[in-house]
Amino acid sequence: MPADRTCKSCGVPLRTDDVAIYLKLVSRTAQHFQCIDCLGISLNCGREPILKLIEYFRASGNCVLFR
Ligand SMILES: [Zn+2]
Repeated sequence: MPADRTCKSCGVPLRTDDVAIYLKLVSRTAQHFQCIDCLGISLNCGREPILKLIEYFRASGNCVLFR
């Protein structure tokens, strides 16, 4: 996993899910990540849709990023 595990916008420590959804939604080759809150702001959708996507990907079991 990449070394930078804090949010590039607000600096909070990131959980595995935060990194995984960022890779999924923004870029599979990203080296710097955002927490769900900042990603929600960046995508102009808020954090709720992102939390739902995390639940969806985990439940589907198909994504290698969510195991
Ligand atoms: Zn943040």
